[in-house]
Amino acid sequence: MPRDSFVHLHLHTEYSLLDGSIRMKELMKKAAEFEMPAVAITDHGNLFGVIEFYQEAQRAGVKPIIGCEVYVAPGSHKDRPPSRRESAYHFTLLAENEIGYRNLVKLVTAAHLDGFHYAPRIDKALLAERSAGLIGLSGCLAGEINSAIQANNIEKAKQSAAEYRDILGAENFFVELHDHGMEEQKMCNTALVQIARDLGVGMVAANDVHFLRRSDHQAHDVMLCIGTGKMVQDETRLHYLPELYFKSPAEMRQVFRDFPEAIKNTLTIGDRCRLDLEFGRSKYPQYRLEYELGVLEKTGFVSYLLIVWDFIHFAKEKGIPVGPGRGSAAGSIVAYVLGITDIDPLQYGLIFERFLNPDRVSPPDIDVDFCEARRGEVLEYVRQKYGERRVAQIITFGKLKAKSVVRDVGRVLGWSYRDADRISHRQDDSQRAEHYARCRCGKKRRAETGSRQRAGYTAALRPCESP
Ligand SMILES: [Zn+2]
Ligand SMILES: [Zn+2]
Repeated sequence: MPRDSFVHLHLHTEYSLLDGSIRMKELMKKAAEFEMPAVAITDHGNLFGVIEFYQEAQRAGVKPIIGCEVYVAPGSHKDRPPSRRESAYHFTLLAENEIGYRNLVKLVTAAHLDGFHYAPRIDKALLAERSAGLIGLSGCLAGEINSAIQANNIEKAKQSAAEYRDILGAENFFVELHDHGMEEQKMCNTALVQIARDLGVGMVAANDVHFLRRSDHQAHDVMLCIGTGKMVQDETRLHYLPELYFKSPAEMRQVFRDFPEAIKNTLTIGDRCRLDLEFGRSKYPQYRLEYELGVLEKTGFVSYLLIVWDFIHFAKEKGIPVGPGRGSAAGSIVAYVLGITDIDPLQYGLIFERFLNPDRVSPPDIDVDFCEARRGEVLEYVRQKYGERRVAQIITFGKLKAKSVVRDVGRVLGWSYRDADRISHRQDDSQRAEHYARCRCGKKRRAETGSRQRAGYTAALRPCESP
C-alpha cells in the first residue's frame, strides 16, 4: 500500500438517488489510477449499489468497503417528528467484516420497514443491538455531533460522541473531518479534534464525495434540482460546492495537511475492513419438506405416517370431528401437508426433530383426537382395513405405587381407613415412614411391583405387518 495514499470513506454513488452521480466503473478506474488501496460506498440510507460496487472494485483491483450514510432518529426510529429536519441526523457506517456487513443489512432493512419517516431511519438502540463489526464515523454537518457544535453546544456534542463511542467501542468510532472551505466545517473540525482527544477516539478525513470530477459539478447540480424539485436559478435551494468530488490522495493530503493523523487513519481503516462476499452459490432456502421426507424414509416411518393419514382421511370424509393436532406431530410439515395436523409448523417455528430426530430415532407419536361419540367408527375402519388379526389394541397397566399400596394393604389387613391413610401420607416424608410401613406389612415391597389393574387405553390401536 502506498504510504502517501488516501482512502475515501464517505462516498455517494448514483444509488444515492438524484444526489450522487458516480458510476461504479468510472469510479474504480479513477481509484486504480490514483493507486488507492481501497474505496468505500456510503449511499444515503440504502445498500442498493453495494454488490455492483463490490464486483467492480474487485475487477479493478481496489478493495471495496461496504458502508452506508444512515439516518439516525434523535429518539426512537418509530417516533414521527413533524419535520424532516427534526426527524434524523446523518451518520457514516462501514462494515469491517462479514458480521458488520450482516448487521448493516439488518439495520438498513429495519430503517426501511420500521423507521421510514421522510427517510429510512435507525436509532441508537438498534445500532447498539447491531454494532458488532461496524465502524462509525461522526458524519457530515447534518450529523448529530456537528449539529450540536453548530448550535454552540459543545457539551452536548461531546455527550453524543461519547454515546457513539460507547455503542461502537473506542476503536470503532472516529470523528469525521470535512473541509470544502465552509466556515461551519472549520468550526466543527476544531471542536471535533478536541472531542476526539478528550474521549480517546481517532479522527478521519473525508470528502463526502458526490461526483467524480470537479468538472461534473454543474451536471450534478442540475441533477440535484431534479431530485429536489427546484429550479437551477433558485438562490435559496440546496447547493453543493464544487469541492465534493473524488479528490486524489495528493489533494486530500493538501486539504488536511494540519491533520496527518486523520489522513493516516483512512489507510488504517481501509486496511482493517475485510469483507469477502460469496457469489455464484445459490442461497435459496433449503426446502424442509424434502428434508423431512428424507428423514422419514431413512428411519422407516413412511408407512406409519400414511396409515395415520389414512384413518384421519376416513374420519374427515365421514364427517367425524378430528382435532387440529397436538404434541410433537405439529412440528412436521409432512403431517401438515397430509392433513394429519392443521398447524403449519413454519408459521409457528415448530421443530421437526421433536417429532422425529434422525440422530436419536425413537418412534414418532402422533396424538389424534377424535370425537368421543364416533371414535368407534374409526377403530372399526382400521380393523376392517388392516385386518382384524393384524390390529392389536394397546393395553396399559396401572401399577401399585407406594401410597396406594399402603391403603390397599391396610384395608385387607383390617386397619382403619384413617390409620392406613395416615401411614400412606407419610410415604413422601422420609425413609423411616417407608420402613415403618414395611415393618407393619412385609408384603408392601412385593405388592408395589405388582400390576394392579389393566387400564383400557381406549383408542390406541397398533397395526402390524403380520398377524
Ligand atoms: Zn450527510
Ligand atoms: Zn454524505
